[in-house]
Amino acid sequence: MSQAPVLKSSPTASSHAPGVGDDFEFVEVIRGYLNEAAELVDIPGYVREILGQPKNEIIVNFPVKMDDGEYRLFKGYRIQHSNILGPYKGGLRFHETASLDDFKALAALMTWKCSLMNLPLGGGKGGIKFNPRDHSRRELQRITRRFIHALGSNIGPDYDIPAPDMGTNAQTMAWAMDTYMNTVGMVSKQATAGVVTGKPVTSGGTEGRVKATGQGVVHCIREWAERSRFDLKGKKLIVQGYGNVGSHTAVLLSHLGVSLVGVGDHTGYLYNAEGFNSYRMQEYVAEHGSISGYPNGERIEREDFFAIAADLFVPAALEAQIDQTEARALQVKLVAEGANGPCTPSGEKILLERGIDIIPDVIANAGGVTVSYYEWVQNRNSEKWTAEDIDERLELAMKTAYQNMMDFAEANGCSYRIACYGVALQRLARVYSEREIFP
Ligand code: GLU
Repeated sequence: MSQAPVLKSSPTASSHAPGVGDDFEFVEVIRGYLNEAAELVDIPGYVREILGQPKNEIIVNFPVKMDDGEYRLFKGYRIQHSNILGPYKGGLRFHETASLDDFKALAALMTWKCSLMNLPLGGGKGGIKFNPRDHSRRELQRITRRFIHALGSNIGPDYDIPAPDMGTNAQTMAWAMDTYMNTVGMVSKQATAGVVTGKPVTSGGTEGRVKATGQGVVHCIREWAERSRFDLKGKKLIVQGYGNVGSHTAVLLSHLGVSLVGVGDHTGYLYNAEGFNSYRMQEYVAEHGSISGYPNGERIEREDFFAIAADLFVPAALEAQIDQTEARALQVKLVAEGANGPCTPSGEKILLERGIDIIPDVIANAGGVTVSYYEWVQNRNSEKWTAEDIDERLELAMKTAYQNMMDFAEANGCSYRIACYGVALQRLARVYSEREIFP
């Protein structure tokens, strides 16, 4: 007699990574910034209330057959924060600490990003609570496909458009698109390539998407350097997280003469006073999955990493990594937030008091979703833009947003973060005042 298959559910993990203040509630923090900015923009109370909550919260539980023949139950999320400016847009995160509340915060951040960048897109975010490193490629494929299938018509090229985020990449998006296409019937199949962005270029992706977030971070750093009369050449960089965002930022900055002296990821921290070869490290991580074992670097403790004498710091890992201790330790002049929510409010306060500038996530990492938008437009129109086209458009988009942020900050005497929220809110409030509330 054959045994009934065992259904294991995803193990629950602790809510946040090391370095996080126990009192850090991501969703509350984001709501706090919204309220602060709302005071300056003077939006109606009901708009603030609407934007303080996501429009839809979708949770799906789905079983997947593992390589050993057993079944495991996974929990997937899709939070749709706002579609007042256009279809919901935002990444899919595969991470063991993922939670409903964090996805709510991340989805809201997408609304602010798209609005600040003046994209006709709203905000969403989702993913699955599990550690993708524990799974084979075949299992990852089945998990992704079952998740996309479970989401069903909750996503779509005109409704909600996922993209890569932590733990997912172009390959994940190829599986996602293929699964979605196979559920829509023969006739509309080809019209649905835009259901996800961040696809491989050959499968309907766009040139420039892989480096886009890092490229956007670098555009912001250049804008900051120009305005601060700060010569980037010969300066030192430290990066936390050497995935897509961290590694591309480091490689692109190396072209401007900035050397990478400290790097950290989930396996630990490395230091090299002479500077790492950022490109070779990127190749190493692509092959080995982390910086662990990378030659030419001295292993250091997390606390020593934050105290490295450098000029620029790009956090490109999890949220809430820069709390009070880290903010006091940092020796840099600028923190450019490649990650979403890397500074806690008390960490941010200390950084600003110490005269360390912060380019906030809402603008710093918005290059990713901006090029996602270019991909989506190309898919809709069956077009193929060149890498030069994409580069030019992104540069202009980032510069414009940066200027808008600066203008708002100057006019209102607020931080760059609140300025980003303010510009975003102004656009959203205008649309609410034109469309008003149904019925
Ligand atoms: N996951 C990225 C972000 O946090 C990109 C989202 C997208 O391209 O839609 O901005």
